[in-house]
Amino acid sequence: EAFVDFRDVWLAYNDELLQQGKFAVEAIDLKVARGEFIAIVGPSGCGKSTFMKLATGLKPPSRGEIRVDGKTVHGPLKISGMAFQSASLLPWRTTLANVMLPLEIVEPFRSELKHKRQEFEARARALLARVGLAGYEDKFPWQLSGGMQQRASICRALIHEPQLLLLDEPFGALDAFTREELWCILRDLQSAQGFNVILVTHDLRESVFLADTIYVMSKSPGRFLLKREVGLPRP
Ligand code: ADP
Ligand code: ADP
Repeated sequence: EAFVDFRDVWLAYNDELLQQGKFAVEAIDLKVARGEFIAIVGPSGCGKSTFMKLATGLKPPSRGEIRVDGKTVHGPLKISGMAFQSASLLPWRTTLANVMLPLEIVEPFRSELKHKRQEFEARARALLARVGLAGYEDKFPWQLSGGMQQRASICRALIHEPQLLLLDEPFGALDAFTREELWCILRDLQSAQGFNVILVTHDLRESVFLADTIYVMSKSPGRFLLKREVGLPRP
């Protein structure tokens, strides 16, 4: 069975728009196989962010069904991690403390956290080392470059070992050189850990470099026009 399964999913943002038949995304059928990396590309306003809100369970569909790991999604998904265009690290926390933040927020971890603190900290340090941030654990966000902040935000998204990583233009604000460096880091992480990725991007080159499958969304209304399997050999 597919890991993520959108079945004829439609979303209108409110009742008025629904009555007018104005949908932000329409008739979305999409399956993500276990371990697959997909990219969604399309112009601004086509419905990419809306798709992400649906995929994380932040918005229920107006019609259709979304299943993740065999279960219908009701409400925010606990098995996903997210990173966005802005790294949005908390300025008063160190890099390490930012990466560990999700472990402190997720309720089931709370009581566990006390005796597992060391294990979690070791995991955070290992992730930071993996993305080239060893030695920056105790620095604050303002002491890091944009690319370093973004690497830390990807570590934060991966700290609870999610099965699904959702990336909304995570490299959009970076210079071309830093961006390509992060592409390689992301590919390494994914081939080592095997999580699923849904990446939203404006950058076709990025989607070809990273994804197994590319979905092209049309301007408006948001529908998938084209599915393209890239099938490049993985590193
Ligand atoms: P991006 O360019 O990153 O895809 P947008 O600029 O389209 O983001 O949207 C930014 C935020 O504004 C989104 O969270 C979206 O929900 C909200 N938004 C976008 N369009 C509208 C709209 N027509 N009415 C209300 N909110 C909107
Ligand atoms: P993208 O991420 O591709 O830029 P969005 O998903 O943000 O596109 O937007 C898809 C459509 O939904 C656009 O027409 C946008 O104006 C509309 N939209 C997005 N967010 C909202 C919102 N909160 N309320 C009403 N309309 C919205």
